[in-house]
Amino acid sequence: MESPFRRAPLRGRAIELLKKGHSADELHVRFVGEGESPEEVRAVLTELVALQHEAAAMDPTRLRGEAKWMFLRGASVDDVVAHFVRVGVPEEPARAEAAKIRAAVAAFKPCQRCGAPTEPSELVMDLGGFFVCRGCNLRDEIARSEQRGIARELEMVGALGGGVGGMLLASAVSASIANRATTTQAPFCGRCMQPSGVHVTAFAPADRQRLDPSAEWACRLCGAKIA
Ligand SMILES: [Zn+2]
Ligand SMILES: [Zn+2]
Repeated sequence: MESPFRRAPLRGRAIELLKKGHSADELHVRFVGEGESPEEVRAVLTELVALQHEAAAMDPTRLRGEAKWMFLRGASVDDVVAHFVRVGVPEEPARAEAAKIRAAVAAFKPCQRCGAPTEPSELVMDLGGFFVCRGCNLRDEIARSEQRGIARELEMVGALGGGVGGMLLASAVSASIANRATTTQAPFCGRCMQPSGVHVTAFAPADRQRLDPSAEWACRLCGAKIA
């Protein structure tokens, strides 16, 4: 017969341990090992895991991320409100938040290298003077640290083999690798949605007159100013 005094302590202990980061699997093994009834353990853990999922679905950071993702793929404010309401947010605050996120997404600017829509405050200037997203910036940083490694190896090889001439060659090679990999070669046109930007000097003089006079870089397809 089930004791009415067993259920509460098991549930309470399970909550404490889940909060400390133990998995439901671990707790199942542990409680059954301690002699708790397997059915009761499973019932308690199933309920708590369902609650954890519900709480995670209501996490504001996650909800905002989902809304951004939806807006960037063409969802309407109503679509996003419906999603918020589905996970348990009341309609009124859901609508206010969705409208706020919609406005933020509308102000996103394309990364000038890969075109990813990015919050303007998150854009970082690369070594070529273009504004790139976090992902592109991170790739640059990784490439630069790899190149420092390559440069060190080349310089060592140069020093061993060819003296000063070898060293100069090695550092010229590593400098050219560095420039190639960590600057934006063809900036992204937000209108054509492709890396179709060229320096204005690449345009024929007649075409160049039609460009925005303040442009230094423009799209070779549509002529829009990029930078
Ligand atoms: Zn990017
Ligand atoms: Zn264009």
